[in-house]
Amino acid sequence: MAIDRQRLRELIEQEEATYLRTHRKSYELYKQAQTCLLAGVPMHWMVRSAGNFPITVTEGSGARFRCVDGHEYVDLCLGDTGAMAGHAPPTTSKAVAARAAAGITFMLPTEDAVWCGQELTRRFGLKYWQFALTATDANRFSIRLARHITGRPKILVFNYCYHGSVEETFITLRADGTPALRAGNLGPPVDPRVTAKVVEFNDLAALEAALAPGDVAAVLAEPAMTNIGIIHPDPGYHQALREICTRTGTLLIIDETHTICAGPGGYTRAHGLQPDIFVLGKPIAGGVPVAVYGFTEQLAARLAGRIAVDESDTGGIGGTLAGNALSLAAMRATLEHVLTEDAFRHTISLAQRFEAGVEGVIAAHGLPWIVKRLGCRVEYWFRPDPPRNGGEAAATVDADLDRFMHLAALNRGIMLTPFHNMALMAPTTTAADVDRHTAVFGECVELLLGRRPS
Ligand code: PMP
Repeated sequence: MAIDRQRLRELIEQEEATYLRTHRKSYELYKQAQTCLLAGVPMHWMVRSAGNFPITVTEGSGARFRCVDGHEYVDLCLGDTGAMAGHAPPTTSKAVAARAAAGITFMLPTEDAVWCGQELTRRFGLKYWQFALTATDANRFSIRLARHITGRPKILVFNYCYHGSVEETFITLRADGTPALRAGNLGPPVDPRVTAKVVEFNDLAALEAALAPGDVAAVLAEPAMTNIGIIHPDPGYHQALREICTRTGTLLIIDETHTICAGPGGYTRAHGLQPDIFVLGKPIAGGVPVAVYGFTEQLAARLAGRIAVDESDTGGIGGTLAGNALSLAAMRATLEHVLTEDAFRHTISLAQRFEAGVEGVIAAHGLPWIVKRLGCRVEYWFRPDPPRNGGEAAATVDADLDRFMHLAALNRGIMLTPFHNMALMAPTTTAADVDRHTAVFGECVELLLGRRPS
């Protein structure tokens, strides 16, 4: 069923007008911000906000937040996973307040460092851990150590991956299969074709060919792609990926920053993966900036003695604020009390409810759309079958439709993750929140199909 593009444009205009009318204070703050913030936003990507300017938040608790205009939102974006533990989870907030009152950063470990290291091993299986501030940094540090250990210059990534601002990863495939610079990557320091290779996810022959020359230090991969929509690996894919990496002497870095939604031990534990290096950022300390990267015992043994003590801080791996006392206290409280096994049982069952609800609306209207789920993360996608790789997914992105669904939901009190309308469940999300989304989704579809007056 084709979407009436004229109708879609009119609906977007109506939603924009509603948004502007009902978010006057956010708009005024945006106007003021234009005098001091580049383009009037704290981070430039916010110029792409669905309503043309961002909502200014006052506070959040549980799975909701409130804005300066007095509206309350069911938050299914959750800071794009940063707030997956929910907003202001009481035990994390308490630990953060206590730690802040007792000193935030020392460039020295606190006892929490050992607790966190032991818990990370228990959860994810890898033996040794390091701290960073962001997932981007943890990826960057992992890549540099992988190059150092293997003596190889390149890394390999999957088409349309996202691993933060890691320069090497902004490489894409042209239709003819040759690599190119990813459009929109500002000021690349080096052409990523010098430092990286790219293949499609789920293409084992291409992976095999790219790793055969033995010049790739590491494959950097999300175990299921999540940043061009959710793309699941084919059955047996991970086993083959591991086998090819081992055979070609390539290290395997698994970035679980989003796929931690698969369970308390991430996708790695849920599916028995065996990465050499494991990366996780965003939600691990309830939103306080911290990231971790872990190594197997074998890899740590290869690293031992390969960094001269006097040179260990030259390259800035593990910067000044990494592993600070505040972030470790937040991580400990979050792992011990918030992102627990019980919490995942609740959030995964809510995601199943979300999936069933949206599927029901799609079926009722005979739409050629699908719903994809990974643990407690779900999204809908405007195509009839699941894409097998980033290229296929990117080819069916419908930015206007994404924008309408996002903005219409926002105007009805629901915040989805922008750009691909993904929903994440927090331990404090309720079945009523999910059902409210289903009702709003149904209403938006009826508007779109002209089955409800706009
Ligand atoms: N890895 C993955 C898989 C991500 O999705 C992201 C952010 N969306 C990052 C890394 C980077 O996280 P950060 O911006 O916190 O560094």
